[in-house]
Amino acid sequence: MIRPNAPAGKTPDIFRSSRSGHARDHLAYFVFLKRTRISLLLLGAIFLLGLSACQRDQEQSAQLFVFGTIVELKLWGASQEDAGNAFAEIQQMFQGMHRDWHAWEPGRLTEINRAFTEGRTATADADIVEMVRQSQLLESQTGGRFNAAIGGLIRLWGFHTSDYPIEGPPPTRAQISEILALNPTSHDIRIDGLEMSSGNPAVQLDFGGIAKGYAVDLTIARLRELGIDNAIVNAGGDLRAIGTHGDRPWRVAVRQPGGGNIGSIQVRGDESIFTSGNYERFRQDQLERYPHILDPVTGWPAKDIASVTIIAADGITADAAATAMVVAGLDGWPEVARALKLEQVAVVDESGTVFLTPAMEQRIEFSEDVDTVIVKLQ
Ligand code: ADP
Ligand code: MG
Repeated sequence: MIRPNAPAGKTPDIFRSSRSGHARDHLAYFVFLKRTRISLLLLGAIFLLGLSACQRDQEQSAQLFVFGTIVELKLWGASQEDAGNAFAEIQQMFQGMHRDWHAWEPGRLTEINRAFTEGRTATADADIVEMVRQSQLLESQTGGRFNAAIGGLIRLWGFHTSDYPIEGPPPTRAQISEILALNPTSHDIRIDGLEMSSGNPAVQLDFGGIAKGYAVDLTIARLRELGIDNAIVNAGGDLRAIGTHGDRPWRVAVRQPGGGNIGSIQVRGDESIFTSGNYERFRQDQLERYPHILDPVTGWPAKDIASVTIIAADGITADAAATAMVVAGLDGWPEVARALKLEQVAVVDESGTVFLTPAMEQRIEFSEDVDTVIVKLQ
């Protein structure tokens, strides 16, 4: 899916430029590409480049509206030309991921899901095959709390939409039981090269829990191939960073339930920091809120964790782990952390108390007073 360099000069019409307040002149291009309706997976699209002058000792940034969020790319130490080429290429990568991975807009993934329903073999691409393999592994490691095959349940709950909150009552118990009885799991998927089939027609892939993670992993890998060793790819607070910001580390904000930031973290080399929560995307009726992360065992939303933030070596693990720990809940998240060998975890409950592993306590600098509880994983 990685395409050859698109020169920065080929980006579409620049319709506005502005100067930032930065000491060095920054020229910001607001480039309008295309506007589509979006979702967890993707992209309308405003691409915004903040290309600086020619020196390498400064930050170059670009923003892309993608995966229902703003993806911000920041580079340090790249020439203006290299940064422009990288931004243009990454923008194309994201457009391809949108097209191919979307859970309900017609595309490659919806074709694969239709083939599963009809008992046919489908042709995937290398990225989707890799996400399925990773999903199988992560489903095993999280004891089934992460399950990328429950797209049927997610659709039943109405979460295949970009318009939140969703108004109205939950599905009926009978509708939920009907899907649970068929026990969809990623292990039902057989992979043969790029061909995939499912012995179980109830298997419907939904990569909402790992798409951002895998996207930032692919982006960082491509940046490295392009010779860029200092970068941050931040998808609405979920991010992977490499290298440094000149002579200081990258510093990133940690999201907090209900908006705003709970604190910040200084990134050490190559790290991924992901947050999942129950407070942004949900259905609601007069009685209750029903958040978008579902427990694959009960078919109902997971509720008692407001948010979980994880630092891991790669984006796909951090993303899946965050989703799985929300499912595991306040009692179960340490078990998932141990199974995935993740030592840096922060969990916020509905009352705002923060449960921290000792290793995470060393990393977060809280921006305000919070009640904390240290949780040892051993
Ligand atoms: P966010 O960053 O928006 O909190 P997550 O990374 O937690 O999102 O992923 C939530 C998305 O993952 C849902 O919108 C849905 O597409 C999918 N999902 C929901 N429950 C599960 C689950 N138990 N396992 C795998 N994917 C899930
Ligand atoms: Mg996730």
